[in-house]
Amino acid sequence: MQGFNKYYPPDYDGEKHKSLNAYRGKHALGDRARKLDKGILITRFELPFNIWCGTCNNHIGMGVRYNAEKKKVGSYYSTPIYSFRCKCHLCDGWFEIQTDPKNTRYVVVAGGRQKDEEWNPEENGGFAIHDTEGNAGPADPLVALEKSTAAQNHATQVQIPRLESLQEVSDHYNSDPYVLSSLVRKRFRAEKNMDAAKREVDDQLKGRYGLPETLQLVREDDEAKKEAREQWEKGRRDFEAQTSIKRARLYRSATPASLSIMGSSFQGHNALSSLKARILGNTRRSSSLRSKGKLLDGSN
Ligand SMILES: [Zn+2]
Repeated sequence: MQGFNKYYPPDYDGEKHKSLNAYRGKHALGDRARKLDKGILITRFELPFNIWCGTCNNHIGMGVRYNAEKKKVGSYYSTPIYSFRCKCHLCDGWFEIQTDPKNTRYVVVAGGRQKDEEWNPEENGGFAIHDTEGNAGPADPLVALEKSTAAQNHATQVQIPRLESLQEVSDHYNSDPYVLSSLVRKRFRAEKNMDAAKREVDDQLKGRYGLPETLQLVREDDEAKKEAREQWEKGRRDFEAQTSIKRARLYRSATPASLSIMGSSFQGHNALSSLKARILGNTRRSSSLRSKGKLLDGSN
């Protein structure tokens, strides 16, 4: 048992024993240090991922804790690589997990297999995060020479012309900013004046005809004029057609009525007298319709 208290027995000699642990023949870490002579310290280790035990083939979930034998097995640069040897809690098998400082992860090295749940960016069109060997050149000097020559050709034939053309474009647009700016501002001013003049004309028109402020007026140009003329001609044709139909109907209805009204004494007379009769008949007919409260146009 470790010396947990500060009781110093009568035979304790500070010169000889140095410490209470040494006096009792115990290590400060107690039972966890029982394999310290083999470089092994017993620590509590929690599984960082799901594994299958290699001996009993059972699935062991992430987060299960073991009293693992921790041991330094190597180093990556100055970082030690530790191995954790755990005894399966479902069987008597052992499995070993090591740290991997290069890739900042844990790997199962013996006695089990890791459930692969890692997202591999390279498999999915991305790039590896830990590209530690990316700068290592090819071992063959000829391959290295070829690579450097290809890079040089690419630089002279592709990259430099492209840079030059970009520089030219940049110079073209930035050589004289004052002229470019004044050009743009001049054009803007002209457009603004045109808009203002047009708005004034529109406002006058709206004021004259009492049109609403929000009404959008059509811009006066050749297209609009042509369309307006076509519309006007169409309306004119329709109106003329209507008028001629009305006139013909009026004529047809008026002629027999006038004859019946004026009596048979006018029959057989010349054209002048028949015209007179028709006019009289029309006048009479229209006055009788008005007395009924109808419009002349509406009755036709
Ligand atoms: Zn097992």
